Amino acid sequence: MLTTLKRIVQEVNQVLVFDEALSLLALRLKEATKVDCCSIYLANYEQQCFQLKATEGLSKSAIDNISIGFSEGLIGLIGQREEPINIDDASKHPRFKHYPDVKEEQYHGFLGTPIIHQRKVLGVITLQQKVRRLFSEDEEAFLVTLAAQIALEVVHAQARGAMDNNSNLHRGTWQSTLRGVPGSEGISIGTGYIANRKSTLASQPLMKSDDPEGQCSLYREAVLQTRAEVQDMSERLALTLPEDVRAIFDMYQHLLDANSLGREVEQKIHDGWNAVSALKLVVEQYVKTFRDMDDHYMRERAVDVEDLGNKVLAQMLESQIAEERLPERTILIAEEISASMLAEYPPQALVGIVSMRGSHNSHAAIMARAMGLPAVMGLTDVPVSMLGGKHLILNGYSGEIIVSPDANILQEYKLLADEEVELFRHLQKMADLPCVTKDGQEVKLLINAGMSMELENSQSDIDDGVGLYRTEVPFMLGERFPSEKEQIELYRSMLRFNPDKKITMRTLDVGGDKPLPYFPIHEENPFLGWRGIRLTLDHPEIFLVQVRAMLKASLGLSNLKIMLPMISSINEVEEAFRLIRQAFYEVSEESKLSGETLHMPQLGVMLEVPAILYQLPQLAAKVDFFSVGSNDLTQYLLAVDRNNSRVSALYDSYHPAVLLALKGIIEQSNALNKPVTLCGELAGEPAGALLLVAMGYRSLSMNSHSLLKIKWVVRSMDSGEIQLFLRDILSMTHPQDVRDALNMKMETLGLGGLVRAGR
Ligand code: PEP
Ligand code: MG
Repeated sequence: MLTTLKRIVQEVNQVLVFDEALSLLALRLKEATKVDCCSIYLANYEQQCFQLKATEGLSKSAIDNISIGFSEGLIGLIGQREEPINIDDASKHPRFKHYPDVKEEQYHGFLGTPIIHQRKVLGVITLQQKVRRLFSEDEEAFLVTLAAQIALEVVHAQARGAMDNNSNLHRGTWQSTLRGVPGSEGISIGTGYIANRKSTLASQPLMKSDDPEGQCSLYREAVLQTRAEVQDMSERLALTLPEDVRAIFDMYQHLLDANSLGREVEQKIHDGWNAVSALKLVVEQYVKTFRDMDDHYMRERAVDVEDLGNKVLAQMLESQIAEERLPERTILIAEEISASMLAEYPPQALVGIVSMRGSHNSHAAIMARAMGLPAVMGLTDVPVSMLGGKHLILNGYSGEIIVSPDANILQEYKLLADEEVELFRHLQKMADLPCVTKDGQEVKLLINAGMSMELENSQSDIDDGVGLYRTEVPFMLGERFPSEKEQIELYRSMLRFNPDKKITMRTLDVGGDKPLPYFPIHEENPFLGWRGIRLTLDHPEIFLVQVRAMLKASLGLSNLKIMLPMISSINEVEEAFRLIRQAFYEVSEESKLSGETLHMPQLGVMLEVPAILYQLPQLAAKVDFFSVGSNDLTQYLLAVDRNNSRVSALYDSYHPAVLLALKGIIEQSNALNKPVTLCGELAGEPAGALLLVAMGYRSLSMNSHSLLKIKWVVRSMDSGEIQLFLRDILSMTHPQDVRDALNMKMETLGLGGLVRAGR
């Protein structure tokens, strides 16, 4: 069963035109299950009905012409119940509805199952049999499995279809909305640009063109250049490669002949495809044909055809890329945005970021917030290639992207963007005011540095120092571990810039969603794996170089604090502090001659692994300070991967359990007389900061773009008066109740502008 299923899904996936893929699916399914009829219906939510899209057994003329209301007939029932229905005689079922056009009178046995993606019913697949019979358990299981497997394909194809319509000028603009996960707040309007687009046919979108002559000459030119390239390669390798291997070049030349690939590609261009799409369609068909051959040697040739196709593509793209410049108001799009990718683009050229993978508290999103760029993450339902060159509105509050917006929507969003500018102006008034509550409680606001790859110093005159410097980011930008000297320079510029302010440097926290390109780690569960302190304790040479560099950079200064990430047990602290003391001893010996004093930095740990919350007294005896990493604490308390958009709705720092943990930490830290800062993203969220200050936190560290908003929150609240509200919040059961209550509270405190911004 598994083999059949795999074969069908693979075969259907290779058909690029969606309607054709559905027809093939119906055919293969009918053959594999040996039934008399197989049909596929897709949901149309605008019209609240299922439409017949493919059938083998019903009347083909009913395709696209028959609509079954969501509450009608057996198809509607399957959608409503969200489960399979298996009956021996459909026509006897009370919900059976007769549609004369489909001509199904001859069928009795009926099995139907819904196609569901992320709780949404996308369609229904049915099998029908002339005889009266119940389908077997195996048949039912097979259909359910197949439906689950093709659900994502349906979603992709629908998104593709909606956007393909956009390019069809005859239909006017055709706006579509895609839903992802909010990554970084803000609205941006701009043009999609795909970062580091790989030149493979697989990554190219299918696009039409109404200039067949132009596209044919683009293709022919690319073929000429590929011929020359192949010829050149064949001559260069003539002496080193055996003859049978060199034969491959002859095959390439043969395939490039006008009578071979060329004829078919040009035919597709005349059918309306652009040159790249035509090449893609033809090459993928050839690859499939070769892959299906019985002869092993011929099957292997599939790779050669693919390779040749990519060579021709590279030639075509080269001429396009040479002219390609970043569009004005670029919205950068990538499968997964990384620090090194962002470093390639001038920050002022970007107005927004879309990362197809990742979620709200992925480091890519944190990076976007640090740069003050709106971002949407986790757009798993669309292929990345579909967004390039499109006019987009990116809504970083809701996680939506509107593709090819119409004039009304554009106007609406321009107003929202203006409101943001107004809010920004209002916030500027806070710049010189102290960060105290109405009843005079001082709250220290520190900044999280490292993520924006600059020193975030432009705002340093209004902050209380750096609460978290993520040192791993510069490590991620290089091609090897930075040397001790390089690190000294980097850390010194940080410490010297503001010698009166404390700079908390976190030792390397790689792993999880922060890979080093030159030190790949392949793990099943990277967030539960070799990450942070676990990795650096296993590599003391890396840890020691980093700590020595920090200490050397601090010579003559006394503002360095060092903090350890991912601590889950006391012996990790003991071991790390032993190494830090060793480095301290070495550096002080080496620096005796220079006459500069070396101060022992304050040493602290991040509280981000739940286990350590149960050992705070023992931990407090060893360290100078705590820093709460609410991003990871939320992930580990709720067992929700912070980088997985599929479970993003479950990742919630306002979950009552997380709030109780945070309350417990501040109470215990106060009782133990241990200073504590909270440096997770919650500190930079207005509602989060309100709660944290109410709980008793007096030191919050955040990205510099959040500072003024949070100062406004602090200045609007009374720490005594808010206690009753906090008690209510902590007794709530559902995260959504917490959010609603917080939003209402913010309104009553006059902070409605921030609630609107956070919507
Ligand atoms: C955290 O986990 O809350 C934190 C601040 O560290 P990071 O986001 O870098 O894991
Ligand atoms: Mg963390």
